[in-house]
Order: sequence, then C-alpha cells, then structure tokens
Amino acid sequence: MTQGPGTSGLILEEPLLWEKGKPGRSAFSMPERDVPETPIPMDLAGDGPDFPDLSEVDVVRHYTRLSTWNFGVDTGMYPLGSCTMKYNPKINEKIASFPGLSSAHPLLEESLCQGNLQILFELQQYLAAITGMDAVSLQPAAGAQGELTGMLIFAAYFRSLGEKRIKILIPDTAHGTNPASAALCGFKPVSLKSGNDGTLDATVVKELMDEETAGIMLTNPNTLGLFEESIREVADLVHAKGGLVYGDGANMNAVMGIVDFKRCGVDVMHLNLHKTFSTPHGGGGPGAGPVCVVEELKRFLPVPRIVEQDGRFVVEHDYPDSIGRLHGFFGNYGVLVRAYCYIRAMGAAHLKKASQLAVLNANYIRQELREALDLAYDKPCMHECVFSDKSLHKYKVSTLDLAKRLIDHGYHPPTIYFPLVVPGAIMIEPTETECREDIDQFIAVVKEIISEAGQDAEMLRQAPARTKLRRLDETLAARKPCLIG
Ligand SMILES: *Cc1c(COP(=O)(O)O)cnc(C)c1O
Repeated sequence: MTQGPGTSGLILEEPLLWEKGKPGRSAFSMPERDVPETPIPMDLAGDGPDFPDLSEVDVVRHYTRLSTWNFGVDTGMYPLGSCTMKYNPKINEKIASFPGLSSAHPLLEESLCQGNLQILFELQQYLAAITGMDAVSLQPAAGAQGELTGMLIFAAYFRSLGEKRIKILIPDTAHGTNPASAALCGFKPVSLKSGNDGTLDATVVKELMDEETAGIMLTNPNTLGLFEESIREVADLVHAKGGLVYGDGANMNAVMGIVDFKRCGVDVMHLNLHKTFSTPHGGGGPGAGPVCVVEELKRFLPVPRIVEQDGRFVVEHDYPDSIGRLHGFFGNYGVLVRAYCYIRAMGAAHLKKASQLAVLNANYIRQELREALDLAYDKPCMHECVFSDKSLHKYKVSTLDLAKRLIDHGYHPPTIYFPLVVPGAIMIEPTETECREDIDQFIAVVKEIISEAGQDAEMLRQAPARTKLRRLDETLAARKPCLIG
C-alpha cells in the first residue's frame, strides 16, 4: 500500500514544514510595489532564518493536524492525580481575551486602569476569603514560585527577629518542589515519615521540631488525597518552638469553602490558580501561584501591592520589609482574570459544591475499583484516590502497562509512581467536572484492562497499540531526545 497522508486511519502523518515547502509557494499576495527598490541594510540582512515557502492551506493543515496529536481536557477525561485537570469553562477564556483586559498596558496610569486594578484587588480578597487567610499577593507565576515566595517570607521573618534557622520539616509525601523551594532559600529539608494511614503523626513533628528549624511545609489534603487531620496539633507544636507553618494549597480543589487554613494554624500558603481556578494547564503555558499570609507576615509580601484608598485602587510600592518582586508587573494577568471570572460565576455556594463533587467522584472511583485494584490506604479520600500495583503482580504486568493501555481506550493515564511512598502508585483524580456516566465508563475500562491482564498480559506489556507511536523506550527518549520529528 502506498503511503498516503493518513498512516493509521485518521491519525495523520505530518512532515516538517521544511520538508513540505516548495519554492515559490505563498500564503499571501503582496500588492505591486509602487516605491523604488531599496536593499536591506547589511546589519539586518545577515544569514536570516531559512523559512520554507508554503501556501495557506499547507500551514493551516500542518498546525491543525499537529493539534490532533494532543490529548487535553477538551478531548476527554484526564484523571491525572495531583494536577486537577478539570474542564475550564470557555466563558473565562472569552472574557480574558476582551481587549480592555488583554491589551491593557501594564504601565498604564492608575486613573486609566481602575477596572483592571479592581479585578486584582477583588481577586486578592476572594482568595483570602476562600482560604481564611488575611492578605494575598497575586504575583507568583506557578505553585513552585509560590513556595519560593513563601520560603523567602520565612527567611525574611527570621532575619527580622535576628534568628538563624537552617532546617525545615517536609513530609515524605510532598511534591518534589517543596524541598527544592526550601533549599533555594538556604533551608535544609528534613524528611518526615508519614504514618501507616498515609498521614502525618504529630509525634514525629514533636521529635524533630527544634529552635534551629524554620518550620514545616505541609500539603493539605496531602498528595495521597488524604486530609492531614493533625494539622492544628502540628501547627501548635511548630509555633511553640517559634517556627512557621507553610501550607501547600495545590490541592485546594478538595476543600474550597470547607477548610479555614488560618484556623488550621497555617501562616503562609499558595494556591494554584491553573489547577483549582480555571486556567488550562499541562502544556507549559502560564499559571499563577498566589501566596496568602496571616496579618503578621503581610509586611513581607512581594511588591507592588494593589490596595484600596478612598474608593480608588492604587499600586503601592512602599513596603520596606517586602521580599521584593517575583514577577514583572502584576503577575500573569490573563490567568488572574480567568480565576476572577470563575470565582464570580461560581459564587461561594458553588465553589463549595465543586469541592464536594470532586471528593464524591474520587470516593466513587475508590469504592468501585477497590476490588479490582489494591487500595494504598483503605479509608475515605479527598479529591483523589491512590492504588498500588499489588493486584497486578500476579499477571506480571505493571502500573506502567495499565497506564499505557488506558491510552488505547481514549483516556489520559492517571499519575503513576507518585507519591513515592506507594509502590507502583496509580493516582486518580477525576475532578468535579466528570459526570457519572463518564466515570462509570472509566471504571469499566480499568476493570476490562485488568481482565485483559489475565488473558493476554503480553499485549498489555506492548500497549498502546492504537496510537501514532507505540510503546517508547523512555530511557532512550530521555537520554537521546530526537526533537525534530
Ligand atoms: C502541582 C503541585 C505543585 C507545583 O505547582 P506548579 O504550579 O506546577 O509549580 C506543588 N505542590 C503540589 C502538591 C502540587 O500538586
């Protein structure tokens, strides 16, 4: 069979634009020149990039075809644990693209951008209300940068007291960014072993918390999808030794309008707007990791800050104790607008309901798959549930095989092999935006794959079979990446 444009049904093969181009093709007709020809100045002419000649249809098809190689929340269920890959309402995209928002210059005089500043100011207030904290900076561009901001605030706080603290406590279930952020600020991460039930035992903190330790970084709900019930007790132990409590709020999708983090004893926390508050993510696009603090730490927040003075919104730089600037201008403005729209559209009652549904959906999956897969911790979960690969051992198939076979069935695989404390972890986060029928279908597919494991384990070890590329040699792909096609 001659090779046509489609190599596997409608999965289209696609050459590079350079291979596709033909000299003389063009996507645009220039009008006849009516001015004298002028040579390009030498310093601009150079060896410039060698662009291929292409027609409009070449370009449109090229990029449209490439876009079909991708899987996203607009294509299907994306149950990637610890990532909250939920569906993002399109209205928020539309509003963020309004010219008055997307084209406003960040150096506009305050009087000309009161509405833009009002959005930022009110978003700060909403996030404070949702978390229970006192003050917010919208500057950080991602969760990890929010953590860095938090650790810089920890460092500034201890410097202001004239104290030198060198260690920080971090549970072994934490996201890898936690110890990295702490280390960047000069703190040595001390790993805390989580208990047999997957949560932190306050006695472990009691043993290790001392006056050389800046405090603790605690993710709640944690990355096993479990609520750290001893958080208040842990916070009291840390505070008793003069330390601070950092809350990693990346899992806020489970607890919006339900948990008051200040009452839990948290002093600084970040949120991931691109997880919980409606910004598409996963492709490396912009995010936002606002940082929320208690009143006593407000003076350390990044500058500039947006404040209200006599009914006007002003950009305030005069905070001598501030840790400074972490991002150009006001942060990733478009992401902040999406979060603002999402929060306004949902309202307090529906934000809470979203969290309740996210938790319900995860527990439904946990319950329905508990016999087919081995539950890592057999107790109710929050927004995600974690299974181990134990029940797959007898078929000699692995978590990876299950994940790859899910691709054949049209699902993005869940998070696998994380958190590290669960052998062969399979971490499923359905989010609130999946309906009962879609979740039932996902459950049925997982069960079908497990029965396939009993019949044809080899086929599973070769999966995926219905994709453009089959099972890749991941080591080779990482060591010798081929980036041109
Ligand atoms: C996603 C995540 C982070 C990091 O957030 P980024 O926006 O990817 O930098 C930190 N902690 C937890 C628990 C997360 O799930």
